[in-house]
Amino acid sequence: MDFTLTEDQQMYVEMVQKFVKNKIIPDILKREKEHEFPLDIISEAWELGLLNLCIPASVKGYEIDIVSTALIVRELSYGDTGISTSAMCNDLANAVIAQNGSDEQRKTFLRPFVEEPLIASFCLTEPGAGSDNAAMTSFIKKGDGGKYILNGEKCFITNASYASQFTVFCKVGKPGGVMIACVIISSESIRNGSVTSLPTGGREIVLPEGGVISTGKPEDKLGQLLSNTATVKFEDVVIDNDHIIGNRRLGFQYAMDVLDYARPMVAAIGVGLAKRALDVTLEYTRERKQFGQRICDMPVARDTLVKMWKKVELADMALMKAAWKIQEKAEDRGNYASLAKNTAAEAALFCANEGLHLHGGYGFMSEYEISKLARDAHIIDIYEGVREVQDMIVGREIV
Ligand SMILES: Cc1cc2nc3c(=O)[nH]c(=O)nc-3n(C[C@H](O)[C@H](O)[C@H](O)COP(=O)(O)OP(=O)(O)OC[C@H]3O[C@@H](n4cnc5c(N)ncnc54)[C@H](O)[C@@H]3O)c2cc1C
Repeated sequence: MDFTLTEDQQMYVEMVQKFVKNKIIPDILKREKEHEFPLDIISEAWELGLLNLCIPASVKGYEIDIVSTALIVRELSYGDTGISTSAMCNDLANAVIAQNGSDEQRKTFLRPFVEEPLIASFCLTEPGAGSDNAAMTSFIKKGDGGKYILNGEKCFITNASYASQFTVFCKVGKPGGVMIACVIISSESIRNGSVTSLPTGGREIVLPEGGVISTGKPEDKLGQLLSNTATVKFEDVVIDNDHIIGNRRLGFQYAMDVLDYARPMVAAIGVGLAKRALDVTLEYTRERKQFGQRICDMPVARDTLVKMWKKVELADMALMKAAWKIQEKAEDRGNYASLAKNTAAEAALFCANEGLHLHGGYGFMSEYEISKLARDAHIIDIYEGVREVQDMIVGREIV
């Protein structure tokens, strides 16, 4: 394993760092306060080629390798993890199609993302099926015309209020069935649907093929205020056979495979946040003086800063190893994906909490970025599999 970045990777890192420095950091606290979904930033990121990294070259996508993807997500997350979560969610939803779809499906469902800045949602979690995804009850069943009909409700879905395409996991036949399929409600259907804004803040889309998708009020969250999260309900949505990805019995396997790919991306989000927390804390403690000396020169504070730095570096190493293992399709890649996610979540929480502490009372004020980072950090330990689920994966493999 070589830690030297290729010329392309170096170019990406520098480009994202510049974008973050000029377009995200200067207004981040103002945008947070306004709590408006940053469609402009997402569009600019799309123009720069920072979205839809997994789309294959065969449909004119960037098909960027996993290590480079991790570097891009890490650098974007240094600016804001809400924005990077929404941006990365496109790859979460689209990687399933890239990995398991037919050539025709890749063209139909992925090409539109290359052509314009569309947003996708990955719909796995349900109110009664969080960590235990297999307990989902959304289902497709053959209708009278021979086509499948989808019914069910998903919750905590990133980008739901703005999505132009939905990747949905559901049971086959009945809510309590054992087989899980992955189906797509395409950007073409959504575009041709009739959309009504609901008084709740959600939207209702009547689809041309039949059926309705409705999204709930955007969730009022503790952190990552610049990413959008909402429930999505599917009522009698007609699913053509060619909108079922791969084998309709293997949807659960596809979801697990894509999560192996995505966990290092959540790790990258954690490393970006941890590094930002370290940097804003270094800046603050170099300026602030008490007892006649800079906070950063006080031995206990210095010790905390060193611990923060170590957490960032260790998490970054775990991230790079996981990304490399996935790129190499190593058999034990799942273990490293889980290790990276947990290590990065721990680094993010530690650096944000300790960083806030080193800011004293100022850290508790919303005008200091560290207070936002401390709110944002919690979700890294939760989404795409809570800490205990990652340990369960590793435990199962090593034993
Ligand atoms: C902001 C946000 C964005 C999200 N985006 C998406 C998205 O785009 N698509 C999507 O499908 N989902 C999304 N999710 C859902 C997310 O992946 C789930 O919240 C997560 O998997 C945990 O499920 P849960 O919330 O139901 O928690 P639960 O499964 O109820 O777990 C609660 C707690 O129970 C404990 N626990 C659970 N299982 C075990 C176990 N096996 N062993 C030991 N302890 C355990 C843990 O302490 C855990 O934290 C998002 C969530 C949030 C908050």
